Amino acid sequence: MEKTIVKCESCGRPFDLGREGIFLPAAGGCLCRACERTRSGSRRGLSAPRPLWAGTAAKLFFGVLFAYIGVFENRPWDWTFLLVGLGIGLGLIAWGIEPVRRYRRERQAAVAAVRTAAAEKKAEPLRRLRRPRVCAACGATGTGEICEYCGTRLPEA
Ligand SMILES: [Zn+2]
Ligand SMILES: [Zn+2]
Repeated sequence: MEKTIVKCESCGRPFDLGREGIFLPAAGGCLCRACERTRSGSRRGLSAPRPLWAGTAAKLFFGVLFAYIGVFENRPWDWTFLLVGLGIGLGLIAWGIEPVRRYRRERQAAVAAVRTAAAEKKAEPLRRLRRPRVCAACGATGTGEICEYCGTRLPEA
């Protein structure tokens, strides 16, 4: 994924929002992982914590193991054994994958929000110029930088 480098609002450190930290829509800024931890009450950005690698790996490992035993070590064949093995196995796998998916989803949403905010900020001066304003010199209403009737600079929107 393309990097989205933002500056931490609190400590000023630049970081990749695609990998860590949170976006605070209300403040329009971002906090790095370290500052996110120290600042309580500012967890309005991401709610999903970064999943622990070891925990995810253990759930996936035992999930696959249970499913494997249920299917391939099922001798003599027993449907209950199969269902229990598969049920526990698939349950463990889903349990392991879900936090990772949630974390990714929220992180992508944060990156998208930052990009949208940046694009809007960039478009704001243009939008202002397009807004009709009254010329102070001749009283005509115009858009753009200068009055098209008398050439006077139009006031800021
Ligand atoms: Zn910081
Ligand atoms: Zn004018």
